[in-house]
Amino acid sequence: MGEKNKSGGGGAGVKRVHAMSCGFFDFPSDYILPGDEESAGGTVRIEIGMFLLEHERGNILIDTGCAVECASDPAAYWGEEAAAWGRLSMSRDDAADMQLAKLGFRIEDVSHVVLTHLHLDHAGGMSLFPGASIYMQKKELAAAMRPEPEFSTGYYEPKDFAGAGGLNIIEIDGDFDIFGDGSVRLIFTGGHSRGHQMVLAKTSDGGELLLPGDACFNRRALDLGLMPGAPIPEPAAAKTACEAVRAAVARGARVEFSHTIVAGSNNI
Ligand SMILES: [Zn+2]
Repeated sequence: MGEKNKSGGGGAGVKRVHAMSCGFFDFPSDYILPGDEESAGGTVRIEIGMFLLEHERGNILIDTGCAVECASDPAAYWGEEAAAWGRLSMSRDDAADMQLAKLGFRIEDVSHVVLTHLHLDHAGGMSLFPGASIYMQKKELAAAMRPEPEFSTGYYEPKDFAGAGGLNIIEIDGDFDIFGDGSVRLIFTGGHSRGHQMVLAKTSDGGELLLPGDACFNRRALDLGLMPGAPIPEPAAAKTACEAVRAAVARGARVEFSHTIVAGSNNI
């Protein structure tokens, strides 16, 4: 009691949240909403989320979408098999740099980049940010560098990391507090990928903000209690992460999902 809103006019925290989309994926429903009888066997269109958090100590980009090269030819960049699984609709304007420009931000205005994980729809634009501190889990980098066979094609794209040597990558091991004041915390989950993490932030008006990454794809998955599609490297951890998202919603946190379903897609 008494902690909430005690600063009255703007405590340490996220002042504004901007949701951006790096285009859309048309995916088999059974991967995005496994167990949803209404959409089973069909295709759902999902957004590819990226988020900019305005914080008094720097602007933080959460995830970077797909690589710029995918705007012209995803099959050439990812290979035919990966491009046929999740069919991408992306124009050059959808890439992270252009989406930020549309909001009035330059690349240099982003001082921190958080990658929830390194799948090709989250880490593809990381090389656009050579001046930022780029946070990722040590375990995730290891998983991406030597992917297990079933999580290679369509999950990790080695070309996304080809320029990583020139970036300011900060490998973290477990939970991490970016500013050391509890206002933006990275929560290790594993599950959907070996080193998956979520972002849990405080807003300057005293609220709580959760960016679950792929711990829970979208509102429908949350409402129906669905896990991200199989194969999942760590099913038990994925389940725990889903429960953590549910608990955050239950205590009133604002949640921004990474793969919102485009309304009307597959009639859901
Ligand atoms: Zn994803």
